[in-house]
Amino acid sequence: MTTNAERKMRFLYALRSRGVTDARVLTAMETVDRRAFVRGLFAERAEEDMPLPIACGQTISQPSVVGLMTQALQVTPRCKVLEVGTGSGYQAAILSQLARRVYTVDRHRRLANEARNVFERLGLTNITVIATDGSFGLPEQAPFDRIIVTAAAEDPPGPLLAQLREGGIMVVPVGQSDAVQSLIKVVRTAEGFDYTELRTVRFVPLVEGMASD
Ligand code: SAH
Repeated sequence: MTTNAERKMRFLYALRSRGVTDARVLTAMETVDRRAFVRGLFAERAEEDMPLPIACGQTISQPSVVGLMTQALQVTPRCKVLEVGTGSGYQAAILSQLARRVYTVDRHRRLANEARNVFERLGLTNITVIATDGSFGLPEQAPFDRIIVTAAAEDPPGPLLAQLREGGIMVVPVGQSDAVQSLIKVVRTAEGFDYTELRTVRFVPLVEGMASD
């Protein structure tokens, strides 16, 4: 029998061994139970370092990738963060532990509604979920200190770059949806944008327009 404590210890060990070393990120990931974001049979595997299927043909990302992206985002307690691609809500919940406020958007109303319910149940009151097409960002709340995109775009979307505050950081997987993509970190400076390639990743595609469900 594996106890919950053992599962959690292995979970944190897997994160560390894959490069998630930031203490605040590790604490956030220790605090937020990934099980709350996975349904049915897959809940059993919530502490394993693998992506899992969620509703609407989407996936909850691999925990180590969530950790590495969160770490690259360098979130501070004063940050207002935008996430494009709510999915299960897990990434937003991790961000909610580190940021002042998190806005998260998804093109599937169903996913947005389900995530909102989980946040309410967990008492995560600094997250706002909006069902909208995030390829245009969230102009009414811009600018953002941090932007994280958890679906792959062919290029960093222009409207998102425009909604990033000077000094702000964006992390976005870039590349064709059916191939290996690069995780890119973008820093907005006074002069323009600095781009750094972090690692290869594999995400579902960023799709324009609202979904039917
Ligand atoms: N961050 C999520 C995983 C995201 S999966 C988690 O922690 O579970 C990618 C999500 O991006 C999917 O839910 C998909 O519906 C959403 N998505 C794709 N294109 C989008 C768009 N243009 N606007 C908003 N959401 C989008």
